[in-house]
Amino acid sequence: MNKQHAQKRLTELKKLLADYSYHYYVLDEPTVTDAVYDGLMRELKGIEAAYPELITPDSPTQRVGGQALDQFTKVEHSSRMVSLNDVFSREEVEEWLARTEKLAPGRATEFFADIKMDGLGCALVYEDGVFVRAITRGDGYVGEDVTANVRTIASVPLRLRHEVADEFKPFLQGRTEIRGEIIMHKKDFEALNHAREQEGLPLFKNPRNLAAGTIRQLDPKLVAARPLHFRGYDLLRDNPDEVPTAMFAYKAMRALGLAANTQAQVFTSLDDVMHFVDLWDKKRHDLPFNTDGLVVKINDRKLYRELGIVGKNPRGAVAYKYPAEEATTLVKDIVLSIGRTGAATPVAVFDPVVVAGTTVQHASLHNADEIERKDVRVGDTVVIFKAGDIIPQVDRVLLELRPKTAHTFNMEKELARQYPELQFVRPEGEAVYRVKGATGPLLLKKALEHFASRGALDIEGLGEKNVVALVDAGLVQDIADIYLLTYDQIVVLDRFAEISTKKLLGAINDAKKPPLPRFIFGLGIRHVGSQTAIDLAEHFGSLPAVADATLDQLLAVDGVGQVVAESILAWFADPDNQALMQKFTDVGVRPQYVSHANGPLHGQRFVVTGTLESMGRDEAAEKIRELGGTFQSSVGKDTTYLVAGGKVGASKLKKAEAFGTTVIDEGAFLKLLRG
Ligand code: NAD
Repeated sequence: MNKQHAQKRLTELKKLLADYSYHYYVLDEPTVTDAVYDGLMRELKGIEAAYPELITPDSPTQRVGGQALDQFTKVEHSSRMVSLNDVFSREEVEEWLARTEKLAPGRATEFFADIKMDGLGCALVYEDGVFVRAITRGDGYVGEDVTANVRTIASVPLRLRHEVADEFKPFLQGRTEIRGEIIMHKKDFEALNHAREQEGLPLFKNPRNLAAGTIRQLDPKLVAARPLHFRGYDLLRDNPDEVPTAMFAYKAMRALGLAANTQAQVFTSLDDVMHFVDLWDKKRHDLPFNTDGLVVKINDRKLYRELGIVGKNPRGAVAYKYPAEEATTLVKDIVLSIGRTGAATPVAVFDPVVVAGTTVQHASLHNADEIERKDVRVGDTVVIFKAGDIIPQVDRVLLELRPKTAHTFNMEKELARQYPELQFVRPEGEAVYRVKGATGPLLLKKALEHFASRGALDIEGLGEKNVVALVDAGLVQDIADIYLLTYDQIVVLDRFAEISTKKLLGAINDAKKPPLPRFIFGLGIRHVGSQTAIDLAEHFGSLPAVADATLDQLLAVDGVGQVVAESILAWFADPDNQALMQKFTDVGVRPQYVSHANGPLHGQRFVVTGTLESMGRDEAAEKIRELGGTFQSSVGKDTTYLVAGGKVGASKLKKAEAFGTTVIDEGAFLKLLRG
């Protein structure tokens, strides 16, 4: 993304996020889910990290989103109430620790971790042990005085407990501020909504917004009628040295009569922190309240203070967010995949994004009607979701972020562009375009014949006629099915007898560990000929790496252009093909990769013309490749040798001369092969 583009995107994101924040913090009525907000915020942070000069003070990355409502008295906080930087993986926690280490070498030895409650941040002020004021977080500097409302919450003591250990006694004198979260338990929220449903009233959105909405209205009686809880996460004193660690603050709060999560713990290693993260990933749903992650802080308060604040976030803490089942991403392309029945499936290609813990880079858009209904266009920002193990789906387009250049997707035009040699029909009443004249069995026969052919897996006994016999007998439904064939199934077919059956099964069994390039070629991905298959194998080294490659990674392969890359991506994105790949694994097919990159002919490119006496063209190609060379079909500017079998035509010679290609005869070629 260039700077001009970044600036434009940044402006749009800032505007949209400000709008979402207003609905969330001020009106307590969010218009999008947190995952969508977080996804766009993350993108904004990425742009600002790349172009720090574009950061402005009004950026949502710099300010806490809340704004005090006019109906409340506004109160300034004694010290800023901060927000937290999100992290989503172990690597990001590691990066945070590395940054801390750089700023304070050897000093961050203890990490305090607690559950992050999804509620409304609020500060309670006690003077000489007596509750005097409650202030919402607001914009972090100024909050709303909600004392009358908070007073009705049963878990907010109006007086701190006086029977405490000596170490906590100072907190009963002077000003003690407790910061924490006002939350509503999930079961109470459900009960309230159930009652509203019975009365035909509109339902509340979520416990967080109901808690916030309840506190930020003017009737304390209504607050008293709603089951709210307060849980502290911080204790502040005028003299900060009175609170040496985060854990000490928790102990003090509990001693003084406030609730603070008992799950909080102190760790001394990253591994232990991550163990805690994993543990709560599983157990968090059993908590009485909603949580979207954990808070991890430097336990030592002095160091925490010294590390300071950047933007709106302290350097000494992070919020670990659990994987959301929704995310936002950009549609970089819409490619079309021809499935095994000849049906064309449009597939959206994304900027890779993590959804529910796995990286997603494409999703099927199913058919032309579905694209039209969702109006997905190349260049759009979309919300994608993935529930459990279910395949990712595009939920909707964020229209506010649609670039002016994004055109409506035209299926017929795209089919003609991506498959110029094919014709498609859309049968009456169907949403799917299919290859004209193609049927499932016909395509399967072609696919299997190709898979078994000499250039691919070279399975003897699986030529055209036998393939037809197997498919017509209904013994194979896809190419991986050949590995499941049994003696009894085959021997009864007209074309087979005892020996030929055994031979075929033997050949199939021998083809369980095919060379990776031949296997890739055998899949019959459009535009992937044997050389491209070799290039892919060389570049990626394994089948899963090819299957998971992004468009950009594919484009980085020598000899792979846009059309080829799109075709590969579309093939692996097709759910049918994904099932096929799984089946290959299940039946024990393990393509083998041996690198030829160190072969003596590495970097040399050959074209063979005419007839060689000692070997056929295919064999010559194979030998060249085995030695690390590249076999080309026609002379180009990068061709090293033109191998002439017999006499070479004048035009070929001229071309070779023009490109500086060396012309050699069969004898010289054989010498090169022998090394
Ligand atoms: P944050 O995620 O930056 O976290 C900081 C807050 O966490 C603290 O202020 C505190 O109130 C709270 N917290 C809860 N448990 C805590 C604990 N144990 N220790 C310390 N702090 C604890 O919060 P934020 O700045 O309010 O904003 C970001 C959140 O709000 C995001 O999750 C975002 O998705 C959501 N949001 C959503 C929308 C929307 O439209 N859906 C809009 C704006 C913000």
